[in-house]
Amino acid sequence: MSEIISQSALRALAAEWIAGGKSVAGPARVKPDLVLYRVLRSGDDLLLEGFQRPSNSIKDFLFPKAEKLYGYKIRGNSIELIENDSPEPAQVIIAARPCDAAALPILDHVFNWDFHDEFYNRRRAATTVVTLACSAHDENCFCTSVGLDPGSDRGSDAILFALGNGQYEVRCATEKGHALFDGKTEKSERTGKAITGPEKRFDAQAVRAFVTTHFEDPFWNEHALTCIGCGTCAFSCPACHCFDIVDAGSAAGNARVKTWDSCQFSTFTAHASGHNPRPAQPARQRQRILHKFAIYPEKFGEILCTGCGNCTRNCPVGLGVLSVATEINHG
Ligand code: SF4
Ligand code: SF4
Repeated sequence: MSEIISQSALRALAAEWIAGGKSVAGPARVKPDLVLYRVLRSGDDLLLEGFQRPSNSIKDFLFPKAEKLYGYKIRGNSIELIENDSPEPAQVIIAARPCDAAALPILDHVFNWDFHDEFYNRRRAATTVVTLACSAHDENCFCTSVGLDPGSDRGSDAILFALGNGQYEVRCATEKGHALFDGKTEKSERTGKAITGPEKRFDAQAVRAFVTTHFEDPFWNEHALTCIGCGTCAFSCPACHCFDIVDAGSAAGNARVKTWDSCQFSTFTAHASGHNPRPAQPARQRQRILHKFAIYPEKFGEILCTGCGNCTRNCPVGLGVLSVATEINHG
């Protein structure tokens, strides 16, 4: 016996969550050719089909682009600190792609490893993730090459499977998921399943073996020739998590702010002395692949990539993890 919900009931439920004070985020069409995860104003804004995946990722709602850590005021020799301990409103992320949700355990490791990041963890505790299993993939998807699949419930509190005719099977994976859907579904004999594929595109172990043994190699120069260092790959990646901490405001004070950063920027490793250990784009591209396939796995036992394909889809010059990994494997 399965639990099912109709598309209209799902939209009504999203509207109920919004009316109840929850922040609800999900895919929405913001321009004719652009779908983004964004905070929904109504259940009708929720886009459930007709696109591959949003151009951003759900990390925006747990690790925002810019976040105030604390405020401060400077008067003469005295500094007043103003804590930012406002409670996080409950939020639901609905119709996340499995490759987005699977990045959350990756971020959990990072923000709880040598330092427990209160801001991330507060938001994580207040968030319930409802995933929609994929019913299509495009040429940039490669979840199966990094150990996932289009129906993976990793990082999800509940997962929806399209049954056709506007119906979804609901499988709850955690207490949070049950709390959202209890009493909201109907019993059915029907069960859903995700698509199979995408076909495995490369061998992640072979990529790891290459990057750990080819630090100085012409491959990086050849590969990075077209990269313009824009950072779009990192910013649209559900798993990339580098940040900077900056002071915003005047000398009299204002706020200390955590902002997204990227290893693809020339200033990322620039020292105050003027020395830069990664002086050009090939070293930065190498770092991105090395971190994803060797450094992070060595520390946390998994690849720092869920195969969502966003870095390739959004790159203005057509690079991305998929092209590098396949070149390494088949080059
Ligand atoms: S790989 Fe592409 S998206 Fe990433 S920094 Fe280079 S040009 Fe930008
Ligand atoms: S590295 Fe690229 S394919 Fe992998 S999770 Fe990040 S954006 Fe997606």
